[in-house]
Amino acid sequence: MMDNNSKQINVTKSSLPDFNDYVSLVGRIWDTNQLTNFGPMHRLLQEQLSSYLGISELEIVSSGHLALELALEVLGLTGEIITTPFTFVSTTNAIIRRGLTPVFCDINLDDYTIDTSKIESLITSRTSGILAVHVYGNICDVIEIERIAKKHNLRVIYDAAHSFGISYLGKSILTYGDISITSFHAAKVFNSVEGGALVVNTKINHDIKSIINFGIGKDGISDYPGPNGKMSEFHAVVGILNLKAVDNEIHKRKVVAERYDSNLSSIKGIRMSKNRFNIQSNFSYYTILVDPMISNRDSLLSYLRERGIMARKYFWPLSSNLFNLSNDQKKSNSNAEYISNNIISLPIYGDLSIQDVDYISKLISFFILTD
Ligand SMILES: *Cc1c(COP(=O)(O)O)cnc(C)c1O
Repeated sequence: MMDNNSKQINVTKSSLPDFNDYVSLVGRIWDTNQLTNFGPMHRLLQEQLSSYLGISELEIVSSGHLALELALEVLGLTGEIITTPFTFVSTTNAIIRRGLTPVFCDINLDDYTIDTSKIESLITSRTSGILAVHVYGNICDVIEIERIAKKHNLRVIYDAAHSFGISYLGKSILTYGDISITSFHAAKVFNSVEGGALVVNTKINHDIKSIINFGIGKDGISDYPGPNGKMSEFHAVVGILNLKAVDNEIHKRKVVAERYDSNLSSIKGIRMSKNRFNIQSNFSYYTILVDPMISNRDSLLSYLRERGIMARKYFWPLSSNLFNLSNDQKKSNSNAEYISNNIISLPIYGDLSIQDVDYISKLISFFILTD
């Protein structure tokens, strides 16, 4: 009974628009012949995203990662950045690629976001900012982080790559921090194949649109050594169409998540993350934490993967265990180590059937009961 499902189920499945809708909208590019450089599709997507998210200023760029590097750049951050080791490596890479030093702060055991009670002891005279991550759609304690940042005159950047569409205290989570960034990569809840955005909530002396076009200003001459970070019209078309479907995608994911909850919550030995701020999740990920006293994460993962359930160790390894970081930086953050060593991301996407959710849940409970 346990081995009769022969198909492979991946951890996510990218949303694609209806093919005919795509052909019809993409056809307009042949009318204008404008393929990139802030064309009509880019402008339409920017307008529709701003209105969907309730944000006045949102700059679309070619990826979430570039948005992170740009955020660090336009805020002029230097020296040390306090950040989390429990993130996708992009967050840490952005800090290092800007020539900055990541200083890793431990995370909470219940929601996996940065533990704000441990931030202040990490601040030195070289600290210029905090780069925190809203993990799996759980949000950081943005109010406490703002208090600490004000007190110590630090800048705050949020990596909200997981948090599309999430609001807190009546406004988009992207409106918190000096800058928030998000990602529209194919694996995210909302995608434009590749893409991302910055929401700048403070005064900056830079024009992002000009920076991401090699720093070329209105006079056609570059006055800043900017990269190419523009989104093409083809990507924008996918974004426009996927945005129309995103509420339905999130709703279908909610049904999947609730089914997992009811199937798995009574199993002794696993638990789910807890959202501390009572927000409406976007169900971007569904993770379980395996209690190492009762079962074993890696064996459960192999058991699932041998049966075509391509669950993932996400996030493992910790960013602080990568690269040639100093021993001081590698100093263990015990909560982050524990979560990273025991967490599994289960498949979740709108089209995942309830039968498949039940099958995956049965495999998990069978494994844990017999382990
Ligand atoms: C996906 C992701 C990024 C990078 O976004 P891209 O659009 O793929 O460059 C950064 N941080 C986190 C937490 C992510 O999940």
